[in-house]
Amino acid sequence: MSTVSLTLQPRPIDPSVDHEIQAIVAGSGTGSTCNTDLAAGPWDFDARPGYGPGASMGDVIPTGAPRQPQLPQEYRDASDEELDARIRAAKQTLGDRVVVLGHFYQREEVVRHADYVGDSFQLANAAKSRPDAEAIVFCGVHFMAETADLLSGADQAVILPNLAAGCSMADMASIDQVEECWETLEDVFGDMDTPDADGLLPVIPVTYMNSSAAIKGFVGRHGGIVCTSSNARTVLEWAFARGRRVLFFPDQHLGRNTAKAMGVPLEQMPMWNPTRPYGGTDEATLRDSRVILWHGFCSVHRRFTVDQIAQARAEHPGVEVIVHPECPMDVVDAADSAGSTDFIRKAIAAATEPTTFAIGTEINLVQRLAAEHPQHEIFCLDPVVCPCSTMYRIHPGYLAWVLEALVAGTVLNRITVPSSVADPARVALERMLAAKPAGAPA
Ligand code: SF4
Repeated sequence: MSTVSLTLQPRPIDPSVDHEIQAIVAGSGTGSTCNTDLAAGPWDFDARPGYGPGASMGDVIPTGAPRQPQLPQEYRDASDEELDARIRAAKQTLGDRVVVLGHFYQREEVVRHADYVGDSFQLANAAKSRPDAEAIVFCGVHFMAETADLLSGADQAVILPNLAAGCSMADMASIDQVEECWETLEDVFGDMDTPDADGLLPVIPVTYMNSSAAIKGFVGRHGGIVCTSSNARTVLEWAFARGRRVLFFPDQHLGRNTAKAMGVPLEQMPMWNPTRPYGGTDEATLRDSRVILWHGFCSVHRRFTVDQIAQARAEHPGVEVIVHPECPMDVVDAADSAGSTDFIRKAIAAATEPTTFAIGTEINLVQRLAAEHPQHEIFCLDPVVCPCSTMYRIHPGYLAWVLEALVAGTVLNRITVPSSVADPARVALERMLAAKPAGAPA
């Protein structure tokens, strides 16, 4: 691992992205933000179509995406200090009856109240480890709350504090679009359920954890599997042991980066664009494919560029560049390493010498890592402060609202996956849990 030559002095860093945005908008802070509306309350956008200010603001939101009813006035008017005190008081009253989960990309003012902080799958497992809790308040986005509902007890209520907190990437693969794609593949490959002479099926569907429960259920029904950014390679090995090719959705970049690292040629990874006839591809290309990539992406991780890496290297000789595999392939190739949020956290924790890190992932996590490791210099590759639009919808006001309602005996914003979807979705998740890296003991 490369290190800087000078010894960095520990320095206090404010991990609050909200504070930084407020200062930029007020003119007292340095730097820039992608949208000054980020300084407003998310309730200003709940009734409007779209993902709201932030990285996904240009993405097309599906018709019928959940809307959040207006947050009661008292929570919109409350100061940060008042909300903080009310959340603490409600949590204390509820005790073990509630567990609060905070995603790595969640704003600091919310994460500080979380009983568990992690990525989506770590948090779903944390929910599973608390069967005593009556309510699980998931401070993340919609598909994460669905996954927690899949893995938690039937009598546990999973609550998403703001229903407008979807995920623009997960929304890029709807169940109707995936069913339509599968029908086309059936036309090309015929019987999808009967293995060939080598025991391989024509197509194995693989979905990233960042997908709706309906998609996970589809995958479970069709012999497929779920993956995370930590285990994508292991899951693709699992799939290639059972099929000629993989249909990978919704994130093209995770699929491409993982398959490329496994030696799959780029020309055998066609893109399926659900908005174009025949997915924008053709039968011969599909027949020759190894991985069919869905035309989905994360607008947070798509902001990172090779130019930003070049600038970081020019301005910080010896900098260690680590990016998330949801970044485009050229960015992953130009970085020193790529991996999940857990990988990034562990890489920083493992650095024994003061090191300069340029990180390509969501700004809230980067700021928190910088505050947790003052011996290192840690900064976001993207100089523009632009958080995940939907994670940012979970303001402390919503957390206080759902917790105080629980104290009063009311469950708000419950996320429930119907059993017709949940049962096959759990099958796909269980296949993932059982998948072992190549060479690992069975
Ligand atoms: S960071 Fe990207 S993938 Fe994660 S919730 Fe936000 S839009 Fe979705």
